[in-house]
Amino acid sequence: MNKKILKVSFPEKCIGCELCVLAAQRQVGKASFEGSPIRIMGGKKGYDIHLDPSVNDLDVNKISEICPKGCFSVEEGGQEEGLEFKAEEDV
Ligand code: SF4
Repeated sequence: MNKKILKVSFPEKCIGCELCVLAAQRQVGKASFEGSPIRIMGGKKGYDIHLDPSVNDLDVNKISEICPKGCFSVEEGGQEEGLEFKAEEDV
């Protein structure tokens, strides 16, 4: 059975608000930023958004919808078993 996959589609739009981090943490009952499957790192050119594959075990629609800048998309994909998150590759 396919499951939903959270993907960072527009990282350049990120403003570093970390609402996505809090949304993910809320789903696992944590109030802190620690151990979140989403990490936002400030860089020279804005923010980098790092997703741990375990984020796909959460309600990814809620995480995507909370982002005020629309940085994420939710895609169908991944199997119940095996690798569920893969980076885009140049073919
Ligand atoms: S909610 Fe969106 S804008 Fe805010 S930190 Fe997360 S990805 Fe960036």
